[in-house]
Amino acid sequence: MRTSYQPELMLVDGIFQSGYALEVDAAGTIVFTGQAGLGSPGAAIRRMPGCALLPGMIDVHSHSFQRALRGKAESRRSSGPDFWSWRNIMYRCALALTPGEIYDVACMAFLEMTLAGITTVGEFHYLHRTPSGAPYDDSNLLAHQVVRAAGSVGIRIVLLQCAYARAGFQLPADPGQIRFLEPDVDGFLDKSEDLMREIGSLSALASFGIAPHSLRAVPREYLRTLASWTHKHMLPLHMHVAEQPAEIEACKAEYGLSPFELLDECGLLTEDLTAIHAIHLQPREVELMARGRITVGACPTTERNLGDGILRADALIDAGISIAFGTDSHTQTDAFENARELESNLRLLNLQRAVLDGRHGESLPNLLFDFATKAGARSLHLQTGSLHVGAPADFFTVDLNDSSIAGSLPEELLTNLVFSMARTAIHDVVVNGRMIVDHRRHALQHGIVEAFCEVQRRLGSAL
Ligand SMILES: [Zn+2]
Repeated sequence: MRTSYQPELMLVDGIFQSGYALEVDAAGTIVFTGQAGLGSPGAAIRRMPGCALLPGMIDVHSHSFQRALRGKAESRRSSGPDFWSWRNIMYRCALALTPGEIYDVACMAFLEMTLAGITTVGEFHYLHRTPSGAPYDDSNLLAHQVVRAAGSVGIRIVLLQCAYARAGFQLPADPGQIRFLEPDVDGFLDKSEDLMREIGSLSALASFGIAPHSLRAVPREYLRTLASWTHKHMLPLHMHVAEQPAEIEACKAEYGLSPFELLDECGLLTEDLTAIHAIHLQPREVELMARGRITVGACPTTERNLGDGILRADALIDAGISIAFGTDSHTQTDAFENARELESNLRLLNLQRAVLDGRHGESLPNLLFDFATKAGARSLHLQTGSLHVGAPADFFTVDLNDSSIAGSLPEELLTNLVFSMARTAIHDVVVNGRMIVDHRRHALQHGIVEAFCEVQRRLGSAL
């Protein structure tokens, strides 16, 4: 049975059009887009008056367990003055959660994403062990919990299994990192091979990638082995790079190279790489990144929260580098806020307006929305991010009468979504042809929120 979704407006080739239909088959694949009257005569029609339909947004960088940290790390007393002291409370959060709670917190993070119009998450997963550092009987238990949570919510997931070998160059072991550690690359790859096979057989909505945590946590030889394994399996590879000045100094001290020079030497600068953050860069590094055609995973709502710095998106775009978005620490879960922040930060830096407008030959809202959709799909090796025939039906609608966007002319609508929309406007969300948010509600919303509140009550005094 086919379903024909018939919204008031639909984003087609970057322009909102009226009278269009999107037809989806029983397998969740888009089989037709075009004038509503030209679709299959037998399709079940779902009219969506007062709504505009767009491709689902893609969040390439999430640590879902950090949703439990929201509200606990916004004072100097709790988390100190900078990124490095913030990590201590984040580690305490990581140590406090049971496997069941990791599932509950991931459900909450993914639920909130869907309510924000996000249909795919790239989950950078680095909780592997028990709080005492022992492996679980099922060494991939916590990854399974996160993938199961995505399945419960109905969001598409790419599980990016994280390698974490050490505290850093010439640093003693940090007990806060004990649940992350996989010091032996062969052991890590054995477990990854199992996990990749299991995830592939579990669900059409789950796939797999590799995530060396950072240059401070993964030494060069380990990284080289990961790189060749990942390329052999043609997987996405994500890595935190150049988030804080101190890690760049550590990289130069250990290897005599800047971070992207080292990644180049290890053969990692390819289309498969997404460098998360990439804030503190030398011009030579931008050249190397562009030559490798890598993606940068920008996380502006987290980067401003942690005091990481401002991404020079103008320079990256001018060099031809693709940018995708991530929520990262879940201080805020709002894909459009990430998009508007990327541009807004540059306005504050440059004392100008519409800084990114016209770059890549695109208008500002189209460029930012492409980053939130197509660039994310490229980063995670997915066919989603646009509404073309043959693609999975991942999309969302917005309520045109929501107070934040009411009165938008069709030609202004994308601008208003990117710069002004509140999350209350998100009306329906469909992943792989299945409606998981219907009239602003997720079917499991009440239970997921209840379970998460219980985790928060227990954690209250534990951090
Ligand atoms: Zn991160």
